[in-house]
Amino acid sequence: MIDAGAIRHDFPVLSRTVYGKRLVYLDNAATSQKPRPVIQTLVDYYEGYNSNVHRGVHALSMEATQRYEEARQKVAAFIHAPSAETIILVRNTTEGINLVANTWAASNVGPGDEILLTEMEHHSNLVPWQKLARQKGARLRFIPVTHDGFLDLSDIDELLNPNTRLLAMVHVSNVLGTINPVRELTRKAHAVGAAVLIDGAQSVPHMPVNVKELGCDFMAFSGHKMLGPTGIGVLWVKDDLLQEMEPFLLGGDMVKDVHREDATWNDLPYRFEAGTPNIADAIALGAAIDYLNDLGMKNVRDHEMQLTRHALEVLSELAGDIDLYGPKDPSRQGGMVSFSSREVHPHDLGTLLDREGIAIRAGHLCAIPLVRGRLKVPGLARASFYIYNTEEDIDLLVAALKKALTFFRAKGVAASHVH
Ligand code: PLP
Repeated sequence: MIDAGAIRHDFPVLSRTVYGKRLVYLDNAATSQKPRPVIQTLVDYYEGYNSNVHRGVHALSMEATQRYEEARQKVAAFIHAPSAETIILVRNTTEGINLVANTWAASNVGPGDEILLTEMEHHSNLVPWQKLARQKGARLRFIPVTHDGFLDLSDIDELLNPNTRLLAMVHVSNVLGTINPVRELTRKAHAVGAAVLIDGAQSVPHMPVNVKELGCDFMAFSGHKMLGPTGIGVLWVKDDLLQEMEPFLLGGDMVKDVHREDATWNDLPYRFEAGTPNIADAIALGAAIDYLNDLGMKNVRDHEMQLTRHALEVLSELAGDIDLYGPKDPSRQGGMVSFSSREVHPHDLGTLLDREGIAIRAGHLCAIPLVRGRLKVPGLARASFYIYNTEEDIDLLVAALKKALTFFRAKGVAASHVH
């Protein structure tokens, strides 16, 4: 069980006010807040042992190297990776996916090959593949999304075929919350010889994730969405694929020996971490993982399911005024709810909620083809939850939402405002 009321005290920012109101932070899918131990870890590094890693013979450098490598081990254990050598520390999910596009995919995707995505991808798991497909003469294909926000798998046996080189899909949608059947789809993809990349940006922070059990080949996620600092993320790669991948960024630290005309690559995973890495933030990500492990990821998931259940229940009071998107089933979605009003643009809703101290996300949620193309709305409002959120936060959201809708109605804001 998670005691969100007690946990809140570990998060300094949650005690601030916004426009004189208590901050109700419901934009966790964009980025999470940071607990004191994570912030303190950053301070400890800069005040106590700031130095470069992997190259120093002095005490500070050895201490920094040890903490940096411990963080990598914590990441590996957190997702049940077989070894720390398979963990590449990058900036974020986006960089992890781009690394795969520029390395493994650059040498394994050719003319006529297919890359299978879903219609619910974040731009960061779409745009890199668009460029790669253009460069290679490959074809992008998409698993459609049903009206209630699930993947439509009726044509999956045709979509996944011997031409498919890669299936790249989101584990938990940042728009709909849908938890996708990644394990089953990974099996199917492997059966036709395709590799599988999972965008874990919205799953790893919120539920137990085990890459061995999922069976995928690549998994990318961001530290800043799981209590860690910005600027640190993870790409996990299955060992056999990692061995054959060419490095992406070249320079210091990723080489073993260098001659005037040639160089040999460093051991794994260092050959994928050129230049001075993000040392402080990696170590602080380790602290974030400690914090989540202390809570227990199953408890995190249960807490968010409870909040989602409550949100769906209280939002149903507004059934005539707002449309809810996604599964509308707490057991099949991550801790978030997305909605739109037929009368009020989501940006206007977001602005009025902000005046009440409530932070939500509004807009295309970095998934324009899904939001505008498939759902055919100009944007959505999204409230997303984490360990420090309470049912009271959600009640405050709904009260503010009612107030905002009444305000717009009184002002006579017409549907034409929704463009
Ligand atoms: N994928 C999904 C599903 C996301 O929700 C996000 C961030 O919102 C990303 C990828 C990109 O994450 P980042 O901006 O940290 O690279």
